[in-house]
Amino acid sequence: MRKIIVTGGSRGIGAAVVQRFAESGDRVVFFYRANAEAAAKIAESTGAYAIKCDISSSEDAARGMDEAIRHLGGLDVLVNCAGVAQIKLFTDIEDADWRRMLDTDLSGAFYTCRAAAREMIRSKNGRIINIGSVWGRVGASCEVHYSAAKSGLRGLTLALAKELGPSGITVNCVEPGVIETEMNAILDEKTKSELADETPLCRMGEPREVAEAVFFLAGEGAAFITGQCLGVDGGFGL
Ligand code: NDP
Repeated sequence: MRKIIVTGGSRGIGAAVVQRFAESGDRVVFFYRANAEAAAKIAESTGAYAIKCDISSSEDAARGMDEAIRHLGGLDVLVNCAGVAQIKLFTDIEDADWRRMLDTDLSGAFYTCRAAAREMIRSKNGRIINIGSVWGRVGASCEVHYSAAKSGLRGLTLALAKELGPSGITVNCVEPGVIETEMNAILDEKTKSELADETPLCRMGEPREVAEAVFFLAGEGAAFITGQCLGVDGGFGL
């Protein structure tokens, strides 16, 4: 029975990841920021343990990781899924928008990876899976701050894979394309349909399809895979 932490597990892709691990009998703790109702639903349906933890704050992330690792009695897998998105013209992006994006989508993973690495290095075992985005690879117009944060997550993944490999820890990134979640409520129906049309597989993806890739990277079959960024995007990033 593995010990798993998933950030952003209350909704969307993170909730599907929590569900996938729970189904296989793993013990799961997940973080959420504010949506206690959604978190309670996932906790009830999966048996996972929910912790209210804002990963964009160094102090809160450290507290949450500490509580999660104590609850689990160790840590085998960290999945960094928590994230925010925003659509804005580059010239309209305020300092506060930029900071919120970088604090959540990049620094949040730094804080949780650091706490996880300290624990995993002790046990010489671990898997870290960061959820990036196809936009971190190809860049998105009107999402410069989001694209920059997700590109940073690629760099964090690659460098950390090199540094933690000798300790028996793998670090990989899953980069979804357009996935049907509340995050995409910021898009109107026309834009969503255009994005589906631009996807070689001609549709948006499901959260479960991203969760399956995460589950694979956490499993025995992926023991020799590290420092990779795996697109789960229906070919969108080609
Ligand atoms: P959702 O908006 O559906 O869910 C976001 C989740 O992150 C929620 O659980 C939310 O908690 C949590 N969260 C947000 N900010 C924080 C924070 N500061 N601290 C802790 N938890 C936080 O997003 P998706 O499921 O769509 O996205 C999940 C990940 O996948 C993100 O990193 C996103 O960038 C990435 N992604 C998504 C794509 C898509 O098309 N949907 C495409 C490519 C990448 P709460 O419920 O409390 O708000």
